[in-house]
Amino acid sequence: MYFCARIKKSHKKNNTMASNRTFTMIKPDAVKNGHIGAILNQITAAGFKIVAMKYTKLSAGKAGEFYAVHSERPFYGELVGFMSSGPIVAAILEKDNAVEDFRTLIGATNPAEAAEGTIRANYATNIGENAVHGSDSNENAAIEGSFHFAGVEVFA
Ligand code: GDP
Repeated sequence: MYFCARIKKSHKKNNTMASNRTFTMIKPDAVKNGHIGAILNQITAAGFKIVAMKYTKLSAGKAGEFYAVHSERPFYGELVGFMSSGPIVAAILEKDNAVEDFRTLIGATNPAEAAEGTIRANYATNIGENAVHGSDSNENAAIEGSFHFAGVEVFA
C-alpha cells in the first residue's frame, strides 16, 4: 500500500527557500457544482502554470491515506467520506513562491473567514466542503504531487 506520509504543520521544518511548485485538488463539491472551469481560470489568471492535471476519483482508502495526517481529528471520517464522494481534479502548479501564493489565492479553510475574491470565498460550501486543496509546505507539495502523478505525467 502506498502511504502518503505528509508532514504535520506543527512538525514541518521552516522553509528557507521558496519552491516553484504546489499541489491542488478541486474537491467534489466544486466539481459537482460546476466550478471546474472558473476555478482553473482563476488559478491560471493568477499566474500559475499547470504542469500536471487529471480528472479522477479517490477511493475511500486513497482519501484516507492522503489525509492520514488528520486521522486523529474528529472530522476525519467526514473528510474521507466527502473526498471520495465524487470526482476531483488533481493538478501540480508552477509559479515562483507557489505554496504561499496559492494559499493566499485559495483563502482560509473556513470560507466564512476567507478573504473576498479568494477561491474558497467564491466557490466553497462550508469548512469541510471547501472547494479546493492547497499544499501547506514545500515538503508536502512534493509528497502530494508524487501521490497523484508519476514523473512521466508531469510536463514542465
Ligand atoms: P487546509 O490546509 O486549509 O485545507 O486545512 P486543514 O489542513 O486544517 O484541513 C484539511 C481539510 O479538512 C480542510 O480543507 C477541510 O476540507 C477539512 N476540515 C478542516 N476542518 C474541518 C472541520 O472542522 N470540519 C470538517 N467537516 N472538515 C474540516
